[in-house]
Amino acid sequence: MKFVIANWKMNGDLALVADFKEKFGNSNQAAEERVKVIVCPPAALLGAFSDFPYDFGAQNCFFEDSGAFTGENSPKLLKEMGCKYVILGHSERRSIFGESDDLIFKKWLKVVELGMTPILCIGENAEQRGQWRDVLRRQLEKYTPLSGLHGTIFAYEPVWSIGTGKIPSEEEIIEAAAFITDVLGKDKYENEEYYIVYGGSVKSSNAASIMCIAGVDGVLVGSASLKTAEFEGIVGGA
Ligand code: PEP
Repeated sequence: MKFVIANWKMNGDLALVADFKEKFGNSNQAAEERVKVIVCPPAALLGAFSDFPYDFGAQNCFFEDSGAFTGENSPKLLKEMGCKYVILGHSERRSIFGESDDLIFKKWLKVVELGMTPILCIGENAEQRGQWRDVLRRQLEKYTPLSGLHGTIFAYEPVWSIGTGKIPSEEEIIEAAAFITDVLGKDKYENEEYYIVYGGSVKSSNAASIMCIAGVDGVLVGSASLKTAEFEGIVGGA
């Protein structure tokens, strides 16, 4: 089974939700055993997904259930709205909003406590390309001593690949996935411990080959998930 995760970022509108419902509204059991589609729209559109047959999730949340945190997304409310997944630590959260590994870990703990599944983004930026192992090791170090990873989906997203059309080679992706497994030091699938997906410039023309790479359990898709036909091609290729 492969994951195909759509990250709409701060894009999309009610018309796009309607389009998605028309194209993906009739969930098909056989297809779902092959591919798990997860759509992560902006928080303001989550309510419109309540009758969507595929899973949906949020792009971020806070680490407290409620309180005087103006503008934040309550993880408890996200769960009540039907979110099964929450993206955490996306590179845009890290670079634009200054999110640290400590903060991301607090959010991870809360998401797991509430029974949702974290989609944890990790990856080196262009300047760090030569030291990608150090970057991944640092971003993962809070998770290695844990006894369970609760099905976390680790999204390896080299920042230099996001929205650029530049994709690492197959060997580089294999190496990164193997390194993540090595650092986490656990059997990936035992008790549905965790998964690894790739993200960065995925489109319908390259998704199928990326999903076949050893150690890769699916893809996280940004801009191509905003075009229904493109996204349909990616899901169809899984
Ligand atoms: C992303 O930002 O998570 C992403 C994968 O973007 P894109 O597919 O546009 O590179």
